[in-house]
Amino acid sequence: MRILLVEDEPDAAALLARGLRERAFAVDVAADGNAAVEKAFVNTYDLVILDLLLPGKNGVTVCREIRASGSAVPILMLTARVDMGSRIEGLDSGADDYLAKPFDLDELLARMRALLRRAPMLRETVLRVADLEIDTHTHLVKRGGRPIALTGKEYSLLAYLAHRQGAVVGREDISEHVWDEAYDAFSNLIEVYIQRLRRKIDTPGVPRLLHTRRGEGYRLAHAPEADA
Ligand code: CA
Repeated sequence: MRILLVEDEPDAAALLARGLRERAFAVDVAADGNAAVEKAFVNTYDLVILDLLLPGKNGVTVCREIRASGSAVPILMLTARVDMGSRIEGLDSGADDYLAKPFDLDELLARMRALLRRAPMLRETVLRVADLEIDTHTHLVKRGGRPIALTGKEYSLLAYLAHRQGAVVGREDISEHVWDEAYDAFSNLIEVYIQRLRRKIDTPGVPRLLHTRRGEGYRLAHAPEADA
């Protein structure tokens, strides 16, 4: 899942971005309203965390502009103000939820999960593909009941493919949702991670679940069907 974090205070932004990356989110940071709108137009995010008080455009304007572009991305607004007025203004501008500062990371993660779950593909906590189980809450992955140790990025990639299970997922789609803007489109990073994942989940002697469709992308599914 790829997050746009809009926060102008550098320390707060760095701390939050680190916490989210440790939870296997890909995070792009925007430090002002103009950069936020620009990134939201160019990239595909699964969720936006938007501070209300920002230099340039404030959070309410950013929110309105994202909505005016036709995007339905979940937006969680943050504010240091505790008055009802700013909350109502935030929700009126198209934000989906609101969190008052200060908050702890667990509280933020709980709100994010609730917003992400509204997307139809994210309703289940445990994703299953044959005997592969991916717990999207604890990030524990098992195959045939046996736990599999994955790095954060390996987990993100597997979870994304599991959300889209049965479908062929292209490299660009993967890079948009699993990597942040530092991703180099000319690198072979996705192939490298696919190979690592395959070694961990498709061990010798078990049916293959992670398939490559040459020139098209990757598919996580029980049925092998026409792999290249
Ligand atoms: Ca601020």
